[in-house]
Amino acid sequence: AGIFDALALQPADPLLSVIGAFRADPRPNKIDVGVGVFRTETGETPVFRAMKTAERRLLETQDTKAYLGPEGDIGFFQALRPVVFGAADPGERVFGLQTPGGTGALRLAAELIAQARPGARVFLGTPTWPNHPPILKKTGLEQVAYRHFDAETQAVCFDDVVAALESAGAGDVALLQVCCHNPTGADFTVEQWHEIARILGRRGVLPLLDLAYQGLAEGLDADAAGVRIVLDQVPAALIAYSCDKNFGLYRERTGALFGIAASGERARIAHSNVLALARAAWSMPPDHGAAAARIILVSPELSADWRAELAEMRDRIVSMRELLGTIDPAFAPLARQHGMFSTLPLSPEQVRRLREEFAVYMPNSGRINIAGLTRGNVEAFVRAVKSVL
Ligand code: PMP
Repeated sequence: AGIFDALALQPADPLLSVIGAFRADPRPNKIDVGVGVFRTETGETPVFRAMKTAERRLLETQDTKAYLGPEGDIGFFQALRPVVFGAADPGERVFGLQTPGGTGALRLAAELIAQARPGARVFLGTPTWPNHPPILKKTGLEQVAYRHFDAETQAVCFDDVVAALESAGAGDVALLQVCCHNPTGADFTVEQWHEIARILGRRGVLPLLDLAYQGLAEGLDADAAGVRIVLDQVPAALIAYSCDKNFGLYRERTGALFGIAASGERARIAHSNVLALARAAWSMPPDHGAAAARIILVSPELSADWRAELAEMRDRIVSMRELLGTIDPAFAPLARQHGMFSTLPLSPEQVRRLREEFAVYMPNSGRINIAGLTRGNVEAFVRAVKSVL
């Protein structure tokens, strides 16, 4: 028998079938709230203006493609630090490297945890980004799920979060999304972050913070509040960073893993471990996206334009959320949420009816991408959802 005979067929990504079915639908007023990328009012996912300029500069000035090390573009990593930490940068206690997207950062973080403490427990609020559980599973970490969100009230179940974290102890890990929660949009308030930080600090739990949408909730600094509040209370933390949404770099696979250790000496040792893990996983990350993001971050004029375009995107998301609530009060809670995603309390049967009767496309989970809505289609979307609810 062939070696592959032992393999079982794996399920396809459910979003791919939504995308395929949407494309094949001839109805002119079809609405795609499935796919997870930002869209403008006219349905594009454009390259940032500042990115176009940075890429041009890169093309003109890059004179070699010789290898960098496993840490990737160190200038990119350093230039991102003030964006993430602001005035709260922990200095020599910081370690880390450029990674292939936030996914690479999460995988490396999980491998580092598994190396330090095999089989460690990771507390994980549900629902969450569907790739979180398989990434943790690959590294043999144990998962402890708790309820993050109630689709009926559209709010964080903060009592469940607190109870879960209070049941964690030294050596356990809490995987927390910092802003623009995927798939619910339900973020922690500043007060809730303070309470979370106190529990993590008191119980010795390691925060693994997933920051994949900085700048798309309320602003670059406001969106990093969770990171900065938590770092004030804990000796060590990991931050998995994605540039894919806030630099529009999706397929360029650009991200970073930041670690904070209890001391500079511990940071140096942890750093040598992440470098070794990265070498064994991908040797070094792809260069282009990080090099271009670095050019933006070190240029005051490109940075200003990047921030301006990010603000335009954020404003569009916020105004669509507000418009939903204005059209129908049932959608008002969505205006208190952040980022591209919300999860509606829809059954797979209702999702099917939306697709077949109204040409509204979303995955069975009921997750919608707010950026798939426009001033032109939002009323039809609300009417469709109301008629299947
Ligand atoms: N974390 C969350 C919550 C995400 O939604 C995503 C993907 N959009 C990622 C991490 C990983 O992002 P990427 O690998 O595309 O940088």
